[in-house]
Amino acid sequence: MREAGIMTGAAVAVDGERIAAVGPQARLEREYRAATRVECAHMVLTPGLVDSHTHAIFGRARYEEQEQRAAGAGYMEIARRGGGIHASVADLRSRTEDDLYALALPRIRRLAAYGSTTIEIKSGYGLSVEDELKSLRVISRLSKAVPMRLVPTWLGAHEIPLEYRGNDELRREYVDLLIHELLPVVVAENLARFADVFCEPGVFTIQETRAILTASRSAGLGLKLHADELEPNGGAELAAELEAVSADHLAAISETGTAALAKSGTVATLLPGTMFFLGRERQAPARALIDAGVPVALATDFNPGTSPTANFPLMLTLGVSQLRMSAAEALIAGTVNGAAALGLVHETGRIAEGFSADLALFDAQDVREIPYWYGDRRCRGTWARGMPCHVREESDNLNFLR
Ligand SMILES: [Zn+2]
Repeated sequence: MREAGIMTGAAVAVDGERIAAVGPQARLEREYRAATRVECAHMVLTPGLVDSHTHAIFGRARYEEQEQRAAGAGYMEIARRGGGIHASVADLRSRTEDDLYALALPRIRRLAAYGSTTIEIKSGYGLSVEDELKSLRVISRLSKAVPMRLVPTWLGAHEIPLEYRGNDELRREYVDLLIHELLPVVVAENLARFADVFCEPGVFTIQETRAILTASRSAGLGLKLHADELEPNGGAELAAELEAVSADHLAAISETGTAALAKSGTVATLLPGTMFFLGRERQAPARALIDAGVPVALATDFNPGTSPTANFPLMLTLGVSQLRMSAAEALIAGTVNGAAALGLVHETGRIAEGFSADLALFDAQDVREIPYWYGDRRCRGTWARGMPCHVREESDNLNFLR
């Protein structure tokens, strides 16, 4: 993860949806005389950022919880006041598919405006057959409406819904519903590429997670896992055992969990914005993971409760300043390794011949400026599959630099 392969004086030739060539500008200008030209001088062109963990399908914002948390309210107290994930579930259930689509569209465009061209989106605020399918259908419609590559993940196991809480029998009924009623429809309608489970004490147990993910794998879905966010409970080890493509969060991963991920090659997707926004002191041990040989990805965790930001470059800032990664490591975590966390490592995340023409252009003269100007929107343009997602003609930042 140390070598980002930075080139200067280079040009990138795009033919249709693919990168046709990368090389010295003078040579490519000779070889592609007829091509439309996008001027990138004095800027940094990166692979389109790969946001491999978002919960972008939701209804209303939950800003009131931020102050409640600041005043000392914990998760349970916020839930008692009508907040938390169950608030988002009740809200999403009350909305139509069209309404959710109209809310999500500008949000994913916002993600692209900050540099993301590949965006994983999870369901998980429906928690019923009808509402999970509604959420996944919104992602499917969005995929057809925007150039960005959207990767749908089914997270029916985000939480036990209120109507299934209270005793073990009800919990079992919900897990059964996920496996026997919801999963077959998700697969039959081709609504998701991955299945994910929130595996955490008080949410889904290791045994429940194993049952849901094993069934999902048999049905043909790839696997992801929310693991070891608050306590080390064997989530990372389970992700490795099941050969999940990624284990996400990991702020509390154990040494055995780290060793297991290193062995399986499972990507550790770290979400530093979440811990920052929640005001937690602990961040995932990125250095220990990288030093152990675990591929580390960064993502926004964009969601209304714990990480309401579309600003991926800010995650790179946190990667450097909080997780003690180098700028090159953070950039790789936001591109190549994000692609690996979505099973797309041969498709996107690199500027190389044959790869999808997924690109992001930044007002910067050195790649290290991307994490450096923190909170700023330096992205001047993004292209996915050769198509513009977002192009900003005028920079409002250049006077910072020159
Ligand atoms: Zn998440």
